[in-house]
Amino acid sequence: MTFLRACFAIGLASLAALLAVPAPGVQADDLTPEQIKEGQRFIVNNALFILFHESGHMLVSELELPVLGREEDAVDALSSVMLLESEDDELKAAMQDAADGWFLIDEANGDALDDSDFLDTHGLDRQRAYSIVCMMAGADADYFKVFIDSLDFPAERREECVDEYAKTRDSWFGLLEAHEDDKKTTKFTVTYEPANNADLQPFADLLKENQVLESIEATYGEGYDIPDGIKVTGKTCGTENAFWNPADREITYCYEMAAYHAALMVNYFGNQNATANEDVEQAESETPEAEANSNSVKLKLKD
Ligand SMILES: [Zn+2]
Repeated sequence: MTFLRACFAIGLASLAALLAVPAPGVQADDLTPEQIKEGQRFIVNNALFILFHESGHMLVSELELPVLGREEDAVDALSSVMLLESEDDELKAAMQDAADGWFLIDEANGDALDDSDFLDTHGLDRQRAYSIVCMMAGADADYFKVFIDSLDFPAERREECVDEYAKTRDSWFGLLEAHEDDKKTTKFTVTYEPANNADLQPFADLLKENQVLESIEATYGEGYDIPDGIKVTGKTCGTENAFWNPADREITYCYEMAAYHAALMVNYFGNQNATANEDVEQAESETPEAEANSNSVKLKLKD
């Protein structure tokens, strides 16, 4: 029997809920070129975090690594460590968008938590966001200072995160060390399947242009005793999700996931634009008592 690890079951219900409460008149057409660029980077960076999360499941399964605690939490941590320890600054910076991604999903879902959230194999969305922030604070507080300051992340917690991060990083690297092999090169099979869907094809193209799926081979393709032939596939799945399938030895990233992150950003920018318009109207009519900023999402600009 195939045990398919579904990692990001967000569900159409929550997407519907998100789109049911958009900022007034939000459409992708209304975005500025800068917002579109920012949104594309957000999609790419969240795809990277998700792929590194799936690659964590891949390592656990391929290398038969022990997992103490919840595997979903463990591979979120591994994904964070690999991005934060990367020599590629863009991968490191991607962590900010990954945190923002979970904050926005949390915001979209509102306060309506029920038992299914607590029964889930994953932590709550906001917990996942703050776990990522904690890893950033622990790994390089100076590099991420502006971002973390913007979240009012308590100083005491930041200090705890330094030790927590060091322990997590050393635990993962300790486990992987036994499987390091300087002479080994591992061949991965990367495929961007056609989306067969006009709405999703642009996301397939975006991921391909940015060589997002290739990032797994770039990270794990040299120096680890991982058997050849693991597939990394982008495709239309019919659900917003990503998977590691041990039977097929395949990591799948669904294009719907990118569309979901795009919807989050369109909504976020729509709120931002609406707030900006309110500010202009306010200045014109001089009614300073009006509450302007209704958008509480902690999404911060990168430098
Ligand atoms: Zn997972």
